[in-house]
Amino acid sequence: MSNIAERKPHAVFTPFPLQGHINPLFKLAKVLHLRGFHITFVHTEYNHKRYLKTRGPNALDGLPDFRFETIPDGLPPLDDDANGDVSQDIPTLCDSFRKNFLQPFCNLLTRLSHSAIAGLIPPVTCLVTDCFMSFPIQAAQEFSLPLLFFSPVGAGAFSSFIHFTTLFDRGILPFKDKSYLTNGYLDTKVDCIPGLQNFRLKDLPSYIRITDPNDFMLEYFIEVANRIPRASAVVFNTFDELERDALNALSSVFPSLYAVGPFPSFLDQSPHLASLGSNLWKEDPKCLEWLESQEPGSVVYVNFGSITIMSPDQLLEFAWGLANSKKPFLWIIRPDLVIGGSVILSSEFVNETRDRSLIASWCPQEQVLNHPSVGGFLTHCGWNSTTESVCAGVPMLCWPFFADQPTNCRYICNEWEVGIEIDTNVKRNEVEERVNELMVGEKGKKMRQKIMELKKSAEKEIRPGGCSYKNLDKLIKVLLNQRS
Ligand code: UDP
Repeated sequence: MSNIAERKPHAVFTPFPLQGHINPLFKLAKVLHLRGFHITFVHTEYNHKRYLKTRGPNALDGLPDFRFETIPDGLPPLDDDANGDVSQDIPTLCDSFRKNFLQPFCNLLTRLSHSAIAGLIPPVTCLVTDCFMSFPIQAAQEFSLPLLFFSPVGAGAFSSFIHFTTLFDRGILPFKDKSYLTNGYLDTKVDCIPGLQNFRLKDLPSYIRITDPNDFMLEYFIEVANRIPRASAVVFNTFDELERDALNALSSVFPSLYAVGPFPSFLDQSPHLASLGSNLWKEDPKCLEWLESQEPGSVVYVNFGSITIMSPDQLLEFAWGLANSKKPFLWIIRPDLVIGGSVILSSEFVNETRDRSLIASWCPQEQVLNHPSVGGFLTHCGWNSTTESVCAGVPMLCWPFFADQPTNCRYICNEWEVGIEIDTNVKRNEVEERVNELMVGEKGKKMRQKIMELKKSAEKEIRPGGCSYKNLDKLIKVLLNQRS
């Protein structure tokens, strides 16, 4: 092994195997790689196969010091073309993390250790994991390695997740019965989540909407919260201006907390790193071409992320709302977006919108958001989509679906005032009105100004001297000092 390899710190990354968790952890891996780390990025075998299918057989060959490894996810084998993919099912995955991941991961660490002894790679110096998984904690103990937790959600949502027990203690959870989901109870103000002011129950992560005190996911998250103090550091893809109160509240409990976001887009300017992608679906190149033909700021970009699903009726309401708004739109409809599988848009809709729309199944979202033709984003408010929209300076229409998305929606619409919410029970008239408000209305203009200010703050944060930049420096020092 060369001296350089010997000196390099080596971080092993374990993402929660879903797109919205893989992407930000992959960016953090790239950031650490740029700062001199040897990286091992661990996919599940199932996702690895998907990458090779969508990105080509050499897609995960990596670089000499940015390597990919796989472990099985312990789920039953899947037909590659199957819809209703169980590998996208969060409770199934969480159950499998507990039962199936530890041994294969420890075997992998042993193999890496043998390769290091043989001088082929530097010895592993730390584990970096999505904080919603437990097996890396046990592995870190077994191999005496420092562990860094990465939060795929924002600080406000994270603060909610770690206070689920408080909601139980206060008698707020579980809900007495299902009527509490519709009887106005969700409008109750919550004053016991540090860092969140004026949030209501409906703004907290959707996992609280339970009537069973032994709900599997609630218990899972409570376990997660109890484990957080065992990490050497907790890292967030956020920045001060976005979530100051939540970050302050969290730092008083976890002193080793580092807000290092947003992850800089200049990363991909390195040709070697740019060739390493993390999208599990095939990006349609037509999206960027089509945007080239549109007027600046004129296009509504519609994308509900990687997991949101909707009924055929909801799809139709969105479709006719967009059609009736008369605005150009780029709409990403994943093959599994609609419950039941098939998307049927009538010839009337197609004829009406043909000249001003493009429908595709997946796109390079960050490039799309940063395209000058895009003027608004109709989103499900995933944390990545939210931060990517902020970084691109694009105001939003929000249709939160589940998980942390209601919390992000509250930030977008009420705290930052850069978005407008669309009712869960979506109706075409509301979509039409909101689209027009966003694209050509006074409110849209104000939101655009506000989000441009946030964009500028984001850019400042990650430049030398900015808080996120300094936090990243500190984090790297922590990781280097803990090298065994
Ligand atoms: N994404 C993309 N192209 C698409 C849809 C999504 O590149 O057509 C990316 C998007 O940029 C983001 C991630 O997939 O990084 C989705 O994460 P998010 O947290 O927004 O939502 P989730 O999919 O987890 O619900």
